[in-house]
Amino acid sequence: MHSLTKTALSFNGIGRRCVALNRFSETRIICRGLTCTAEHGEHEHELYDVIISGGGMVGTAMACSLGLDPNLEGKKILLLEAGNKKVMDKVPDAYSTRVSSISPGSATLLSVGAWDHIMNMRCKPYQKMQVWDACSDALITFDKENLQDEMAYIVENNIIVAALTKQLENLSDQVRVQYKSKVVKYTWPKSHQVADAIPWVQVTLANGQILQTKLLIGADGPNSMVRREAGIPTVTWNYDQSAVVAVLHLSEPTENNVAWQRFLPTGPIAMLPLSDTESSLVWSTSHRHAEELLQLDEESFVDSINTAFWSNENHSELVETAGSLFRTALSVLMPSAGSARQLPPSVAGIGPKSRIMFPLGMGHASEYIRHRVALIGDAAHRVHPLAGQGANLGFGDVACLTQLLNTKHRAMQHLLEYETERQRHNLPMMAAIDLMKRLYSTNAAPMVVLRTFGLQATNTLPAMKAQIMAFASK
Ligand SMILES: Cc1cc2nc3c(=O)[nH]c(=O)nc-3n(C[C@H](O)[C@H](O)[C@H](O)COP(=O)(O)OP(=O)(O)OC[C@H]3O[C@@H](n4cnc5c(N)ncnc54)[C@H](O)[C@@H]3O)c2cc1C
Repeated sequence: MHSLTKTALSFNGIGRRCVALNRFSETRIICRGLTCTAEHGEHEHELYDVIISGGGMVGTAMACSLGLDPNLEGKKILLLEAGNKKVMDKVPDAYSTRVSSISPGSATLLSVGAWDHIMNMRCKPYQKMQVWDACSDALITFDKENLQDEMAYIVENNIIVAALTKQLENLSDQVRVQYKSKVVKYTWPKSHQVADAIPWVQVTLANGQILQTKLLIGADGPNSMVRREAGIPTVTWNYDQSAVVAVLHLSEPTENNVAWQRFLPTGPIAMLPLSDTESSLVWSTSHRHAEELLQLDEESFVDSINTAFWSNENHSELVETAGSLFRTALSVLMPSAGSARQLPPSVAGIGPKSRIMFPLGMGHASEYIRHRVALIGDAAHRVHPLAGQGANLGFGDVACLTQLLNTKHRAMQHLLEYETERQRHNLPMMAAIDLMKRLYSTNAAPMVVLRTFGLQATNTLPAMKAQIMAFASK
């Protein structure tokens, strides 16, 4: 005989009565009026309103956002993360290699508690960005008219997760968290017509534990198992590039409030401010070159970085002449427009053991929702890091999904609006990032001339630059 356990749950189908018996697990779900009871046989199949699978930056933000929403009070919410709990009692002296540029829009989402923790730990705001072409003199700068305003913030990924984790600890009445809990299987609800079908998503953990949820949120990263097992069609391709990341020591202290990015024919190299004396490197280049960069001794690696930012070896006379004629024409038409070139700081060294590389790819799930399932973050979309947007798109998903769940929490399965709203934002951003990657991956003269004209012209159009900034800062 199996002992039976009981769990009381709220149920969305008001006035409905249903009994579901699962032949294999002997789970009995009995709903009367507003109350739903799960009776379990062999295993304890606890039923949740929401299970979030994956506690990276985006999944943990989702858990906080739901836990903080007063309209969702009383809902049973669980976050499952395969890895360990990421706590940070004291911020380490050395900067971490993995950082993200966090937009003001994302900072607002995180402001529900976690942003204060981030500010108390460590983050570096910046006010300006300079992007320029290694094959010509073309450049574009973005800055806030009022330099007091932040364009974005560079934050270490482990600080973001630690801050969110701290915030979750304050929400322990609203959100349960299980670390070291890898999901190995999802079982989807069958059609309502099947009498003995369980209406919820069943989640099986590596330790054998089985859970059930009315809504499963897949936040399990670019190789999402939720996405795969739900059979959601996905467009993916690998770029012919890897990103080398490292912590850089600058030659001398500077105000360091500019994010620098130069497009080399092999891929973009970016230097993002961390402090007055340190910056973070994100250098996207061919896989082979990335491997070579990892093998170099520190001095040669630093020389390669400085050369990549400073050398004009990719300039050609034809492009320079065309670019300079175009610039002169623009300055006649718009004498006060444009912006002066600034020189990036030079690099003197790197942080200990700070060099790592990541293969880069792009991916997009054609659907973000299925019955009782929603995808967020890299599980739904993966982008090249050249625009620093991956996590920001994910935080945008979190804000949108929370808003829809809190207004439509009685019909969690109807989330089409989430998909429509987010794809309307994410797809143009992904297309723009992919186009930039392709446009700058060549040093063929006609293409270089074309993009030089485009960049120079855009740099003289403040209204257009403001629109680009507004789109990227959401
Ligand atoms: C070099 C580089 C630079 C970048 N720079 C920026 C930037 O400046 N700004 C920006 O916005 N973005 C940036 N990004 C993108 C950003 O890092 C990602 O978009 C972001 O990390 C995605 O977060 P996520 O939580 O969706 O996924 P992930 O970080 O992949 O987290 C997924 C989580 O799910 C867990 N998980 C997976 N499978 C299971 C399972 N079966 N069971 C339980 N748990 C599971 C994993 O352990 C993990 O914790 C950059 C990316 C790269 C590679």
